[in-house]
Amino acid sequence: MEDTVRTDVLIVGAGPAGLMAAAWMAQMGVKTIIIDQRSQQTRCGRADGLESRTLEILDSFGLADKVWAQANHTMEIALWGDTEDGGLQRQSVTANAKPGWSRFQESTLSQGQIEEYLMEYVQAQRHIEVKRETTPTSFEIDHETIDDHDAFSIRVNLENVPSNSNSETPPDSPESSDSGLSNALSYDSGYAGMGKTVEAKYILGCDGAHSWLRKQLGLSLEGESYDDSWGVVDIIPLTDFPDIRKRFIIKSKHGTLMTIPRERKLVRIYVELPPDVADRYRAESDPGILMEQVAIIMQPYTISTRHVEWSTIYTINQRICRKIGIHNRVFLAGDAIHTHSPNAGQGMNVSMQDTFNLGWKIASVIKGVLHPRILGTYQQERLPIAERLIALDRRICKGMCSLRNGNQGAKHGSFDEDHKRALREENSSMSGLAVNYHPNSLVTSTTSDTPVPKDVADCISRPFVATNLQVGMRFPSVIIVNQSDSQACHLQQIIPSTGQWNLIIFGGDIARAGQKRRVEGLADALDSPYSVFQKLNNPASVARRGFPALGVYLVHCADRLNIELNDLPMIFRPWTTEGVDYSRVWADCEAYHYADGGKLYSSFGIGDKGCMALLRPDQHLAFLSDIDDTGGLERFLQSVMPEATHKSPE
Ligand code: FAD
Repeated sequence: MEDTVRTDVLIVGAGPAGLMAAAWMAQMGVKTIIIDQRSQQTRCGRADGLESRTLEILDSFGLADKVWAQANHTMEIALWGDTEDGGLQRQSVTANAKPGWSRFQESTLSQGQIEEYLMEYVQAQRHIEVKRETTPTSFEIDHETIDDHDAFSIRVNLENVPSNSNSETPPDSPESSDSGLSNALSYDSGYAGMGKTVEAKYILGCDGAHSWLRKQLGLSLEGESYDDSWGVVDIIPLTDFPDIRKRFIIKSKHGTLMTIPRERKLVRIYVELPPDVADRYRAESDPGILMEQVAIIMQPYTISTRHVEWSTIYTINQRICRKIGIHNRVFLAGDAIHTHSPNAGQGMNVSMQDTFNLGWKIASVIKGVLHPRILGTYQQERLPIAERLIALDRRICKGMCSLRNGNQGAKHGSFDEDHKRALREENSSMSGLAVNYHPNSLVTSTTSDTPVPKDVADCISRPFVATNLQVGMRFPSVIIVNQSDSQACHLQQIIPSTGQWNLIIFGGDIARAGQKRRVEGLADALDSPYSVFQKLNNPASVARRGFPALGVYLVHCADRLNIELNDLPMIFRPWTTEGVDYSRVWADCEAYHYADGGKLYSSFGIGDKGCMALLRPDQHLAFLSDIDDTGGLERFLQSVMPEATHKSPE
């Protein structure tokens, strides 16, 4: 057995953040070791809320179908207050998420199930090694080689931690034995057979709130902690409460209660606890104590249960680590950099979204697609998200913690306006759909008024070509119809997470000769042997890295039946070893069997001249311009992709 093994990436922690990072490495062919001190995935409890954007992300890896089928979809939220005469009154029922924002809605499925699906995905790839019951003991950086991104500058010693000494196990243990999870993947390749030292190019600390790696770096979580105690209990309820299959919040003089309907007839209840009840639960760990408090708040309705799956207690901390990327080699993500209450249901989502942002960047640098300096965008893009997350959690908790001394925002009986606003934001902006990355080396600026900072791409997007799109945001999804076979799908479904960038050309009405000529002009420029597109996608580079760097698609708004695929430039109907690739040309038109076709151009605000949109591998819009602006497109790609500046063939 060798004492030292080398890997491109070492991930510490196989929770949601670590597994999402590993999913990118699995997809993009990057040699990776992921270690976790636990012997198995989360068995029950912890997170259960999946926001729309998280489902879109899981879909981009082909994982959303089974999650969506199994999950409970949380369509409505009801707010209840108490009345003068000791009763409860429903104050409002609204859609839980803003209609039309995403093809998915907020759903609930256990964190353990999500971890299991991601683990299956990761373990299907031989270049990913999963080592459980393994923990790091020391960590060094070789500062002499730190600027050479081919060097294995990170050195970490590992040791075996047998599961019976594993302190993480008890809180995840189900109180009922039926947690719905399979045991098949509980134990995977353990420590045995592995060297004790790992040398890596990059290390990711996805090791949770008590992050070992964060402590090695001398960093800490900063912020506030409060004394408010909350109980959480997962049960199958026996109740006459009419909204039990909605998400609801009750504010009564006995405290606040929030429930979320879950899969398998389960309900998750978060209940605010008076100090004496919290002390009793801490001493006895009896979920019946939490249920007594739930019953007090829900009276005059009744609630009991014969099936308790899991329960715990927590106090509220809102803390953040402001340094999340070091030397562009060491990165922290997930709970390691932000912890807060579970009341807004964001933790697992934002944690996975952190590494969804980071994973493709690291893999692209390793594969030679992107310049290493772009890794600084992780800190630039994700720290503001962590700050917003903590600010939102403060507002939600201010509205919820009615027993907190002096908290006027959480009076019983009514919901203060800011609490209601924060609940709406939770399902729109915070869910990841409205995340907007500011100009940096991977997001172009839209204005020439302000001087461009040193690390921002030297080209400007033209936002007026699609007035409802926003550079820096995730690309919205609408129905499109395939030119060749008329099958309809969502735009996001043609751009899965492969590591490839995608240029979507909105060609407009290409039945008009002038517009068709403009599209042909862009196609000729891309197809020229001297073009950046050809340099990036030359067969040798594609074979070496395992995927093309840039995909090109056409979405037109002409009458589909007036357009012949064979009349379009070859770049839109390339030959592959399996014949013509028919997936490149799409129409914005009514679909035979979907209600929503034909709305893309109007909902994106695209005018008669069309436009082009360059999407990053994470579906965020990097560059938006006129079809004729090939110069701008090439300048942007050359500024971040070393191969785009290679000498052209003679
Ligand atoms: P973790 O899930 O904590 O994973 C860290 C991993 O690292 C673990 O597997 C751990 O074993 C491993 N590890 C730690 N230290 C080491 C080490 N030294 N060596 C090796 N491995 C190590 N979030 C939501 O989005 N929605 C919700 O509804 C929600 N509800 C919640 C309810 C409760 C009661 C709790 C406690 C949390 C809830 N959360 C919720 C939060 C969510 O569980 C976390 O935010 C999420 O798990 C964070 O993912 P992570 O991968 O960053 O960290």
